[in-house]
Amino acid sequence: MHEFGIAEELAVLVDRTFSENHGAKVLKVVVETGAGALEEMSLRTAFEEAVRGTAMDGAELVIQTCAREHHCFDCGSVFSQDEGSYAACPVCGGVNTISAPNHDVILKSVEIEG
Ligand SMILES: [Zn+2]
Repeated sequence: MHEFGIAEELAVLVDRTFSENHGAKVLKVVVETGAGALEEMSLRTAFEEAVRGTAMDGAELVIQTCAREHHCFDCGSVFSQDEGSYAACPVCGGVNTISAPNHDVILKSVEIEG
């Protein structure tokens, strides 16, 4: 499943970032992802599995969603809209727009004990 790969990458990334803090417990992991890009519940479950037995075991996973980004071919504007893959340009009203679905999961912050 897609989410399991993401969760494992996250676990590795957090672990690498905080490898100098050996022994410190991770309390909270905040990530950002594109709206509708993945199943939040699946990611939570996958994350719990991926971090079991590590310093992140029991850490709270906070998932923030960001709006989809759209690009207008008519005027060059870039704008955000939460829902759907299509949107008319709010600047020029043009319909030649394309959305870039953001499937990346970005690690925003990590809170550690102490
Ligand atoms: Zn436009």
